[in-house]
Amino acid sequence: MTHVFHRNPKHMLPYAVKGDGIRIVDKEGKSYIDASGGAAVSCLGHSHPAVIAAIKQQLDQIAYAHTSFFSSQAAEDLADFLTSRSPGDLNHAYFLSGGSEAVEASLKLARQYFVEIGQPERHIFIARRQSYHGNTLGALAIGGNEWRRKPFLPLLAPAQHVSPCYPYRDQRSDESAEQYADRLAQELDDTIQNLGPQHVAAFVGETVVGATAGALAPVGDYWKKIRQVCDKHGVLLILDEVMSGMGRTGYLFACEEDGVVPDIMAIAKGLGAGYQPIGAMLASDRIYQAILNGSGFFQHGHTYMGHATACAGALAVQQAIEQDQLLENVRQRGEQLRQELHQALDSHPNVGDIRGRGLFVGVELVQDKTSKQALDPSLKTHAKIKQHAFSQGLMLYPMGGTIDGVHGDHILLAPPFICTESDIQEIVKRLTHTI
Ligand code: PMP
Repeated sequence: MTHVFHRNPKHMLPYAVKGDGIRIVDKEGKSYIDASGGAAVSCLGHSHPAVIAAIKQQLDQIAYAHTSFFSSQAAEDLADFLTSRSPGDLNHAYFLSGGSEAVEASLKLARQYFVEIGQPERHIFIARRQSYHGNTLGALAIGGNEWRRKPFLPLLAPAQHVSPCYPYRDQRSDESAEQYADRLAQELDDTIQNLGPQHVAAFVGETVVGATAGALAPVGDYWKKIRQVCDKHGVLLILDEVMSGMGRTGYLFACEEDGVVPDIMAIAKGLGAGYQPIGAMLASDRIYQAILNGSGFFQHGHTYMGHATACAGALAVQQAIEQDQLLENVRQRGEQLRQELHQALDSHPNVGDIRGRGLFVGVELVQDKTSKQALDPSLKTHAKIKQHAFSQGLMLYPMGGTIDGVHGDHILLAPPFICTESDIQEIVKRLTHTI
């Protein structure tokens, strides 16, 4: 009997006692390859000496001082690091404790921005059906993942949903990538027109969709076209890079590859790389100035936001990634991972699609490659894959289909950025065996 309220109380979990590079060791001495970085978190692997030293040094100075009284050198330095590397004029970093908090703050900042500039009626959010933005009620209300939302209906203020950019299923064979992207941008345009642009606050999307769809990258100029539609109607663009950001795709910010700059961006996971709970919201000059010149107070805050040890740890993580040029490794190992997965699994009758960017890779499973019919959701294949792989010492992040029965099971791979050529070979070998 455990007194920890576990998420899945029927399931006994092993205790993790040691982390070393890309491996985790449990209490019984069994070793696991962390091929999912937990949930795309541990990008620097486990027990990195420079990160541990930075956290200890900060703890020796001071751990916590409430942000209504103090800033800290660690928070200022981390903000400088992020904003000097972020695209466009995302020059203002607001620190929180995780991804859901970063998304929640982004939604509230968008709403308050419109209040400050005298357009309080802009309150509707548009998001995509295939999306996950977090588990707090606000973030849940905009996410499109039906089974996560279902127990909590009616939600606070549900978003309007438009189609995701899901080329494997939705791009027509007679359509080029740009025509497909145009069609999706037109759908957003029509949706905004129907709602009345004067009521719409923001469009929210994961730059590369993670947990709900398994590393779905946009095609063509999808994000540039979406940005144009938003601008045409005065609607803000919020990018959720909680999973896809901080180097996961081979770029510090995934949207750099798409040549688009959002008004607000949410980041977390790889920011602290699992060493400390931390998330952040990056805001553009225009948004920041509206608060500064308006009420002068952003009406959102959390007790642990801007925690000095979390900021010190995150800065050490990001400096290590930069010093060791790990983004180059992410691009190379990601290429290798996709190539080897294609070689090993293209002939498998149930592997429909292998996709992604950098070390953010998805494998979609289907009943039949031609019809792309999803696996029967009641089989819970994703859960069996997770369990089997784990018993073989491989951590994966598989997800089940949504309850519409169309979008099926998939497996997300997000190994640490430090993984080597032979680590990738071992991951592919164990994954192939599991499938
Ligand atoms: N947004 C995205 C895209 C995510 O993948 C996640 C976590 N899976 C979240 C938000 C929520 O982050 P957290 O679990 O840190 O609250």
